[in-house]
Order: sequence, then structure tokens, then C-alpha cells
Amino acid sequence: MKLLLRFPSYLHERPYTAEIILETGAKINIDRAYVDAVHAEVVVDVPDDKARRVVELFKERGVEVRILKKLIVWDETRCVHCGACVSICPKGVFRFDADWQVALEEAKCVQCGVCINACPMRALALFYGEGERVERRG
Ligand code: SF4
Ligand code: SF4
Repeated sequence: MKLLLRFPSYLHERPYTAEIILETGAKINIDRAYVDAVHAEVVVDVPDDKARRVVELFKERGVEVRILKKLIVWDETRCVHCGACVSICPKGVFRFDADWQVALEEAKCVQCGVCINACPMRALALFYGEGERVERRG
């Protein structure tokens, strides 16, 4: 299960993720991390059987947790199958099928956001949860 974690600045000083790994035994894989002086946003992959406890522990420590049931939104009605996303995605989420139509393997996405700006048709958006869609970055 993929989780989006947002750490407020006052939580930077302790290794909360390491503590939770030790406490739960969950093999938490960091897919993507953005950290600066004031906040940190991390996408992690957590084994399904440990996810509930991991979510609880992060929340108890004041971390904002979103369960990413969906990673990326693809508006097929806008897509012209140009392939820009196929070339640029570092995780191989997009591919051409036998008819040269773009197909997605969403589970591979780490929400890096690179494809969002690359799409000339604005057919792609990151999905953070209902009402929080990111269509452009930067
Ligand atoms: S970059 Fe956009 S328009 Fe081009 S194939 Fe990908 S989703 Fe479709
Ligand atoms: S955000 Fe886009 S470019 Fe990044 S991994 Fe997901 S599909 Fe690929």
C-alpha cells in the first residue's frame, strides 16, 4: 500500500520512520522524498499486512498520512498518444500497446511528477486524494 506522508518542520529532528520500521518490522520502501528546511513530503510503499499499524503510528506522531488508493489520473479523452510520457517516466508506467495507444501500469508510479509537465495535452495529474489533484508543477 502506498502512503503519502507529510512531516511538519518540528518533526524533522527525530528518525520517526526508522522508529516505526523497528517497532512494526514493516519493510517500508521510500519511493520518493522531498525534504527542505520547513517540510518533508514522502511517498512510501508499505506491506499491506503492516499498513494499518504503520498509519496509526505515523498519525500518533503528528504526521499527516494519506492512503494513496490512486496514484495518477489519466484523462484519456485529452490524450493524443504522443508518447512524451512513455519517454520521460523513470519507472516505466507508460507504454505503447500493439496499436500504438498509450497504456498505463499505475502501480509502478512513485508520484515524481515528471510526466505531468511533459504532457502537452494536460491529460495527466497526480492524485493526492479527493479534491487534491496536482496538474502542473513549477
Ligand atoms: S504525454 Fe499526454 S498526450 Fe502524450 S501520450 Fe502521454 S498522456 Fe497522452
Ligand atoms: S509521476 Fe509520472 S513520471 Fe513519475 S513515476 Fe508516476 S507516471 Fe512516471
